[in-house]
Formats: sequence, structure tokens, C-alpha cells
Amino acid sequence: MSQNHALITGGAGFIGSHLAEHLLAAGWRVTAVDDLSTGSIANLRSVEGRPGFRLYVSSAGDEALLRALAADAHVVFHLAAVVGVKKVMESAIQTIEKNLHTTETVLKVANLFRLRTVVASTSEVYGANPRESFREDDDSIIGTSRHRRWSYAASKLLDEFHAFAYFYSTSLPVTVVRLFNTIGPRQVGHYGMVVPTFVGQALAGRPITVYGDGRQRRCFTFVKDVVRCLAELAARPATVGQVYNIGSDQEITIMDLARKVKAMTGSPSEVVLQSYQEVFGENFVDMERRKPDVSKLRAAIGYAPDTRLEAMLQTVIDELKPRG
Ligand code: UDP
Repeated sequence: MSQNHALITGGAGFIGSHLAEHLLAAGWRVTAVDDLSTGSIANLRSVEGRPGFRLYVSSAGDEALLRALAADAHVVFHLAAVVGVKKVMESAIQTIEKNLHTTETVLKVANLFRLRTVVASTSEVYGANPRESFREDDDSIIGTSRHRRWSYAASKLLDEFHAFAYFYSTSLPVTVVRLFNTIGPRQVGHYGMVVPTFVGQALAGRPITVYGDGRQRRCFTFVKDVVRCLAELAARPATVGQVYNIGSDQEITIMDLARKVKAMTGSPSEVVLQSYQEVFGENFVDMERRKPDVSKLRAAIGYAPDTRLEAMLQTVIDELKPRG
């Protein structure tokens, strides 16, 4: 069959399910592999039963399964990972072992079939680098191993090294993407993500919990923009062996985000400050700001995420509102 076929690890996750939808709409066949640890069948409601879509509930570290599925695939998007600061803080062993093992398996199988490969990494790899905005060649400044949070950045950084080791040693056509704070429908707050947490709190009339002093800044990116970038990058041979930031460059403080969510939902909730120590215990560090320089992305695909924050927040509010 000549129809393009994509394998998506983490295909039932927040980003993976949007990517599956996007590729199916573009006429691809899609095979999703997901162990449902943070993903869910509900995320796939819109694609379930569609011709050309299959889901395998299994770990992306299952080499035999991956070999069977990769045999007639053209591209693998490796999105499966332990995600969310809360989850990472609570499951430090799992974070390291799963992230390294699944990437090792995916790269090995991709290399066996010489698959076009896209490996999802994270803006966390820039770590404590104090630059105003991050360019792909900036240094990773990872803090001490006594701080659990860095295990996520370190494991994803090793995944990146691993991907590029395959590129240099075997010419595997791989591209690494660093995703900045991605938001949109289907993201859940259980793993610490700030936007669904704030929207859920505001809609329920509970206090909106801003950690630290609320002056830390983030750039939020719409999931539908992200998946479009992933597909575009995979389609371009010039992106092989390269790393790209995927993010928006509109910055907002977390305090202003809380106020905006409160205003947009018309919520009576109060905005309260909580110390990091109260939430995460000792030895937690947060990043003051995390803004991507997207000029490399724009040069590669002629586009960078540009959905306005209010429009993105509205989609989250609309999704969570009926649930109360
Ligand atoms: N945050 C917050 N209240 C919450 C959840 C998160 O103030 O209930 C803050 C968090 O400390 C961070 C920012 O919001 O500064 C973004 O958090 P998230 O976990 O969504 O992503 P991160 O950028 O930390 O990976």
C-alpha cells in the first residue's frame, strides 16, 4: 500500500492524539502505541473506528511489537514519555527508566527499517540557562542530581544524544524537536500542567493556586500548531540531523495567566500563592522563564505557532466547562 503510514508512540496522549487526527485528515494511515499510563482511550474518540487508524495498548519499549508495526511504516513520531512536573517529581525512577528505555527501543527499531524518525524532546533541556530566549545551539545547564526535577531534563537530553548518535553513526534520518509549554483540549491537570489546573479550579470556584511568587514566565503553544509543525518537519529532508524548538514566543507570567483564566471564566475563585516547598517538598527549582527562539523553525517550514493565548484558553474552558 503506498498510502503514508505513521507510527506514533504515545499516540493516545494529549499531543499524540492530536497528531493522529491531523495525519488521518491529511490521508495518512496511523498506528498508535500507548500504554495508557498518562494517555487515554477517550483522547482517541474522534479517530476511533476510522479506516486507517489502529491503536495498540502497549509500551513503546516492547521491541517485538514495535518491529512488527514498523515494518510497513514510513515515519515514526516518538512522543511516548513520562510527562508533567508533578508526575516526574513523584515517579523519579520510572521517569528515568521509561524515558531512556523507550527511546532506545524506538531508535533501534527505526534504524532496522531506516524509518524517518522524529523524537520529541522538551524545553526543559535548556535547564537553568538564563538567556532571554533559547536557540537550539544554546547550552543545557542542568542542575545538581540532588534535585529530582533535573532527572527529566537529563533523561530527555540523553534521548537527544542517542538520536544524534544514530544520525552520525548510521545516518538514521532523525529530527529532534523541543516542545515548549503545549496546551489545548484533552490536556489534563493531574500531572501538574498549569492551564487545565487553573481552568478546572476557576470553573469549580476553588482557589487558583499560583506557585512561588507567580513572576515566572512561560510561553504557551497551541497543540494544533504543534502537530502541524511536527508533520511539516517530518516531511522535509533538510530537517534531518537537526533540532528545532517548537513553541510560541508570547510570554506571560503565571500570575497574569491566573488572572486571565479567572476573568475569562467569570470565576469567583481567589488567586492564592503556594510555596514550591509546600507543593513539591524540599529541593525543588523552577525556571524563571522559558521562551523559544523560533527563527530556525520558521526558516525550515515557513511557519511558527501563532495562535493567541486567549483563543487557546477558550478551547480549554469550552472543553472543561460542561464537566463542571
Ligand atoms: N504552576 C502553578 N500552579 C499550578 C501548576 C503549575 O503556578 O497549579 C506553575 C509552575 O510552577 C510553573 C508554571 O506554572 O512555573 C508552568 O507549569 P507546568 O507544570 O504547566 O509546566 P513547566 O513549565 O513547569 O514544565
